[in-house]
Amino acid sequence: MTTAKSPQAGQSQPHGFDEIHILWISEGMSCDGDTVAVTAAAQPAIEDVVTGLVPGLPTVHLHNKVLSPTVGGEEFLAPFRAAARGELTPFILVIEGSIPNEKINGDGYWTSFGNHPNTGEPLTLNWWIDNLAPKAWAVVAAGTCATYGGIHAMAGNPTGCMGLADYLGSDFRSTGGLPIVNVPGCPVQPDNFMETLTWVLYHAAGSAPPPPLDEMLRPQWLFGKTVHEGCDRAGYYEQGDFAKDYNSPKCQVKIGCWGPVVNCNVPKRGWMGGIGGCPNVGGICIACTMPGFPDKFMPFMDMPPGGSLSSAIVKPYGAFIRRMRGITNSTANTEPRWRHNREELTSGYNPRWRP
Ligand code: SF4
Ligand code: SF4
Repeated sequence: MTTAKSPQAGQSQPHGFDEIHILWISEGMSCDGDTVAVTAAAQPAIEDVVTGLVPGLPTVHLHNKVLSPTVGGEEFLAPFRAAARGELTPFILVIEGSIPNEKINGDGYWTSFGNHPNTGEPLTLNWWIDNLAPKAWAVVAAGTCATYGGIHAMAGNPTGCMGLADYLGSDFRSTGGLPIVNVPGCPVQPDNFMETLTWVLYHAAGSAPPPPLDEMLRPQWLFGKTVHEGCDRAGYYEQGDFAKDYNSPKCQVKIGCWGPVVNCNVPKRGWMGGIGGCPNVGGICIACTMPGFPDKFMPFMDMPPGGSLSSAIVKPYGAFIRRMRGITNSTANTEPRWRHNREELTSGYNPRWRP
């Protein structure tokens, strides 16, 4: 365990680390689905990062309860407690799950992670964020609950929960000078998370610039395009050919797909090993990566409001184009007439140029 004195809040730390810890707390309001999803990553696999098989990365000490070799309890909590005391650095803080508002917890608490060693009272997630985030070299939010609040933060919730940037402020900067790095998804797409984490680790090693983020603190290269732009079914949309039920291979916009207005690369990337990817395999896009998820996209299986207008506009164009393409397609499926076995050459060959 590295035991250098931790920096004060806001004090910057250099890059070029040989060794770094990842303190991953999944005790936000969540289902632990992001941790489970990340075990499926292959670009790179988390086990390859931890075992040093990815060239150029610092030695990574991962502290995640599902992937921990410890038996749990105080042995697992030790690095978190050390970091909170300022005795472990540098570290990347990963938060999974939305952050409840402990100012409105009544006589109890919403969610906790270990107990106070002296009082035995539960230590809330908020306590850990308050004590770890100002010392963290980088702070990463895994999944839509941690990034924007997600399902637990929908209208009518009693916990007042929120995303990490709502809690820390969107102008938060880690000791490494980075804003919060948001990787949304419900759950997070495994390779999206590991690719982003790997970029942060290369930056920690001093061999890459900071990851470029958009205004919602998402990696630009992963969330810069819409689901629709990468969807296998987009050709059906363009031809105005829409599914009427979930057994159809056609475009699903009329049965609830929000893909045209959702930032997500899953149809391009697939889910595991390039396979899957919501609309590609028959699942409507419910916009699980979006800051407005889920409230702005419910009820999930109704046609999006813009879908009826856009599909009505594209339908006459698409029907005409589809018919024209059908004619061209049948022509393209016919061999040229000079390919025959008669005793005459009809290919149009002209030997007049010969002397
Ligand atoms: S299924 Fe959804 S993402 Fe795919 S083409 Fe249709 S509207 Fe676009
Ligand atoms: S395609 Fe839609 S539902 Fe699927 S992961 Fe992306 S945002 Fe979520």
